Amino acid sequence: MNKFQTGDIYMGRLNKDDDLYQELSRLAVENQIKTGIINVIGAVSRARIGFYNQEKRKYEYIDFDHEMEIAGCRGNISILDGKPMVHAHITLAEDDGTVYGGHLTEGTIVFASEVFIQELKGDSLIRSFDQDTDLTLW
Ligand code: ZN
Repeated sequence: MNKFQTGDIYMGRLNKDDDLYQELSRLAVENQIKTGIINVIGAVSRARIGFYNQEKRKYEYIDFDHEMEIAGCRGNISILDGKPMVHAHITLAEDDGTVYGGHLTEGTIVFASEVFIQELKGDSLIRSFDQDTDLTLW
C-alpha cells in the first residue's frame, strides 16, 4: 500500500458533447495529476462501457445509443507508461431506474456532468503488465 497526502481538489463541469473518458484523461494530464480519485455525476446522451471477459482476456463492449443518468462514476488516476492514466467505472440509469454498469471507455458522451477530482501527493502508483490477468495493474 502506498501512503498519500491530500493535494489539490478540482471541481467543475464538463461541456455537452464532451467524451467523458477523454475529458477526464485530458484534465489529469494537463494538471499533471499523477495520483487521484475521480467522482462524477450527471447525464450522458449515449454510452459505451466495457466488461473484461476473464476467460478471453479482453474487454467486450456494450453500447447504449440513448440518454441515461450517470448514477455514479468512480475512478482513479495513476501512472501508465510515464503519464497519468484514468481508470473509472460508471453506473448508468435508464428512464425506469434500471441500472447498468461497467468500465468507462471512450464513446460515452456527456449531456451534462459535474466532476470532482481529489489529487493525492506521494509515491505514485505505477501500472505494469500483470501476467495473471493480462491487465495493467498497480
Ligand atoms: Zn476497469
